[in-house]
Amino acid sequence: MSPPVINNMAEEKHVNYFALQKACEKPGCPLCTLIEERITRYIDIILFEHISDRRFRADYKKSGGFCKEHSKVLLNFRDGLAVAILGRGTLSEYIEDFKKKKMRLYKGICPACLKKNSIEEGFLSFLAEKHNENMQSELESFFTKSEGLCLRHYAQMVKLIRRIPKWLETFQMEKFEQLYERVSNFIELSAWGRQEDFAKLSDEDKIVWKELAIKLQ
Ligand SMILES: [Zn+2]
Ligand SMILES: [Zn+2]
Repeated sequence: MSPPVINNMAEEKHVNYFALQKACEKPGCPLCTLIEERITRYIDIILFEHISDRRFRADYKKSGGFCKEHSKVLLNFRDGLAVAILGRGTLSEYIEDFKKKKMRLYKGICPACLKKNSIEEGFLSFLAEKHNENMQSELESFFTKSEGLCLRHYAQMVKLIRRIPKWLETFQMEKFEQLYERVSNFIELSAWGRQEDFAKLSDEDKIVWKELAIKLQ
């Protein structure tokens, strides 16, 4: 007999909870950290186990392979034969089109991007959910110790979640507004004649543009 659905959901919740907690201990956007780990694992598993999976091969063919970002994972992939088999198919399509001097239009979306979208949506909903009291207060406590979501992920949340919980909105908006202030200050003090004030900035504030660049990724 298969276990009741509720158990699976509870189990998944716990998996999400611990994964999020671990990601919050690392620098940067916790969701970016999670995505990187999970997508590398996804590509690893999909290539290792499903290279012969017709559905995956069809999806892969429809999108003309992985996108540029996800193709990079192939370079360090442990199974060279799987990469060769997949890559040869794409290469032969390109050669065919080059000969015809007419490039085909790939209508599918990169399978790793599809997977990424569904992981992102899952975690953003999970984060915005109201959990039981203990779990909720712990989640808020570890999440607010992290650097918070990046611009892209918070934008995705705004689009996806109708009512973002107050604690999360306050935390994220404070982070973005503080960064805005520090960047404005950096720009102002970079003006000619402000060298002395600029020198008084903290080490972090002197390179705040780097923090901004990371948030913009
Ligand atoms: Zn992010
Ligand atoms: Zn992709």
